[in-house]
This record gives sequence, structure tokens and C-alpha cells, in this order.
Amino acid sequence: MSRIAFVNGRYLPHANAAVHVEDRGFQFADAVYEVCEIRAGMIVDPTLHFERLERSLRELRIAVPMSRAAFLVVMRRVARLNRVRDGSIYIQVSRGEARRDHVFPSPAVPPTVVMTAKSVDPRKGEALAETGVRVITVPDNRWERVDIKSVSLLPNCLAKQAAKEAGAKEAWFVDAEGFVTEGGSTNAWIVTADGVLVTRPAEHGILRGITRTIALKVAERLGLKVEERAFTVDEAKRAREAFITAATTLVMPVVAIDEATIGNGAPGSAALSLRHAFHDSTEMVPIAAPTTVA
Ligand code: PLP
Repeated sequence: MSRIAFVNGRYLPHANAAVHVEDRGFQFADAVYEVCEIRAGMIVDPTLHFERLERSLRELRIAVPMSRAAFLVVMRRVARLNRVRDGSIYIQVSRGEARRDHVFPSPAVPPTVVMTAKSVDPRKGEALAETGVRVITVPDNRWERVDIKSVSLLPNCLAKQAAKEAGAKEAWFVDAEGFVTEGGSTNAWIVTADGVLVTRPAEHGILRGITRTIALKVAERLGLKVEERAFTVDEAKRAREAFITAATTLVMPVVAIDEATIGNGAPGSAALSLRHAFHDSTEMVPIAAPTTVA
């Protein structure tokens, strides 16, 4: 079946879906994005994704291109046209298309909006969660505004490629003081010997992951103790458990960091309980039925 993409108001076969060569997303990475999970025919947590998308746009002074209701209409249609029941929706909004110049176009041009959807077999994620994944550590060489979900992901691509070449699933960025910031496309967590969940505060140095936000809620519901504080690589290597969170991996146990085995080398119980209870705390919007969001 051919895949369909949304580009600036049109639903196009992938082969014909393109933005202009002078789109600022292409030229300058002057664009932001979101990735939403689709699970059993439902879009997971659209409102939190819209809130973060609008914040990213505001921080970069890119106009919000359409209402949340309009976004949702398009997301559901893209998911349906691509027959995605389990997988993800990708949304990108760039500052738009203009003659190449570093400064913002004046007068402003309409933002470019692109959406795609892809299917992922949920059994693959479940199988991975049964064994857990390995992570490596790399120096954090990104800019300071990683709280903005911009498409400027070159350091993340290089870090994740290094992880792949080392036989790992993810790379954890480490700041100049030896503290873990986050993964190339995930947030990082550990569980201390006393069973306390630790994750870096989302003030700066990390992206405020939607999965992280929900995992904090789920932990509270399960009565797990959480501390939002930075942790070092050293502390992580001695932790009882470690795990990563993202819309694409959900809560994924980490069983090795560099050459260090975490705990007994098997997925930890806190990570697995969070993973299993996760979707009881999420907003789920069916792809099929008409609906509205706040
Ligand atoms: N941190 C980074 C750098 C990411 O790219 C992502 C997701 O793409 C996350 C964290 C996790 O965010 P979310 O839970 O919203 O998927």
C-alpha cells in the first residue's frame, strides 16, 4: 500500500510529497516537530503534544499554523489513509519558504506543515522490553535550547549512530560535570538501591518528554518514590535499575550502560510496572470517530 503524507493542506503519495528547496526547515533546521504514539487505533496524548508544539513554536517565534482541532483532523486522516493502528504520527512545522537568508523572512511567510504516519509492530517493542536494551555514553555537544523540540538533530543522529555501531540501542548525553542529561531520542532514568526513581528536572538540559511526564504520573499512582534531580554516569552504573522513556519506545528497561551491567542484567521491576500501567494514565483519541480536544 502506498503511503500518504500531508504537505501544506494536501494529501500526497510519498513519491510526490515535497517541500520547496528554500524551505527554512531544509536550509536552516528552522523547524520544530512532534512524534505521537498511535496505539490500537488511538492517538496517545494529543493535548500534551499540542501544548509542547505550541511552546516550541512560541520560543522560536514561528506562527502556530492551525488550531488543535484542525491538527487533530489531519492527524486522524493521515493515520487512516496510511492504515496505521499501531505506530506513530510525525508532525513538522517550519518557519516557511523564503529566499535564503539567515534572518527571518519579512514580512513573515506561512509556516510549512508536514505530517506522516508509519506502522510499527507493537510486538517488537514488547520483545525488546523483555530483554532490555544497552546504552552508551557520549559527551553532550548540543546547544543549550534542547528544551525546544527543533529538527536540528545532528548531534543526536551522530550519538545514536555511535550507539548502533557499539551494539547499543541508545546513547546517553553526559554534560561537562559528568551528569547524564538525556538520550539521543529518549529521557533517562535510574532507580536507586532504595527503590527511588531518579530523572533529571526538565528545567534545562533536556526535552520535557511527554512519556516522561506521564511516567511521573504513573509512578505516583503506583506509589513509587521519585526524585527529579541530575545523576552522574557513575551513579547510573551502580543503580538497581535504569530505563529510558519516549513516545516510540515507551518505558524501556536499560540493562547495560557502556560496559557496566545494571542490576542483575535483566529488566527491572519498576521499569516494567511503569511500562505495563502506562496507558491507564494517557489521553487516547480514536482515529476513527469524530471528536474534539480542548
Ligand atoms: N529527549 C529527546 C532528545 C527526544 O528526541 C525525545 C523524543 O523524541 C525525548 C526526549 C522523549 O520525548 P517524548 O516522550 O515526548 O517522546
